[in-house]
Amino acid sequence: MNTEKLIAVLHKIAEKIETEKEYLTELDNVIGDGDHGINLARGFKEVEQKLEALAGKEPADVLKSVGMTLVSTVGGASGPLYGTGFMKAGGALKGKSEIGVADFLDAFRQAIDGVKMRGKSEKGEKTMLDAMIPALEAMQAQWEQEQDAAAVFLAGVEAARKGVEYTKTIAATKGRASYLGERSIGHQDPGATSFTMLLEVVAKAL
Ligand code: ADP
Ligand code: MG
Repeated sequence: MNTEKLIAVLHKIAEKIETEKEYLTELDNVIGDGDHGINLARGFKEVEQKLEALAGKEPADVLKSVGMTLVSTVGGASGPLYGTGFMKAGGALKGKSEIGVADFLDAFRQAIDGVKMRGKSEKGEKTMLDAMIPALEAMQAQWEQEQDAAAVFLAGVEAARKGVEYTKTIAATKGRASYLGERSIGHQDPGATSFTMLLEVVAKAL
């Protein structure tokens, strides 16, 4: 993936989030404050407006700019968390004009580490990490088995979807949903859901 392709994917992500914003907000209504979709849609709309100006930059700079835009425009917990993720991914790709699958996996790992650090969170707390971490693990395993990009992304999407299902079975211990404690059980996490959407868009675009 080069900058041109990356920018095309980011447009698709913005489109997807815009389409799904009501749904994401509904999910957040049940266990949070009902702003997740609105928050993300606002952020990615702002991202889209900056994409044209980034066409001549390297992928790392595009991702850093996306991250900074999300941090500054998305209210709520998810802005800084997604923002940090994109910035860390950018940091991992510094100097590269082409992103291969191995680069992607490295950037994804650093993005996850950024989210963990920023959110002081781990797997099993009913957050976006419950889709991200299993997705990375599945993609890494698939890549080691067979160096086929399509299969790797398919494995990631499948694992992220399972992660979303898993979030229904556990109580939130981080973020607003943690105020509900055990009452959050039975409901899927909005952040895990939105992350799965992002990965689906990337997988489909590649
Ligand atoms: P807020 O909770 O501030 O209203 P959003 O509604 O935009 O922010 O985002 C909520 C999502 O953010 C949750 O569904 C969860 O996936 C994610 N989240 C919240 N806190 C954390 C955290 N500490 N670590 C990782 N993800 C988190
Ligand atoms: Mg919210």
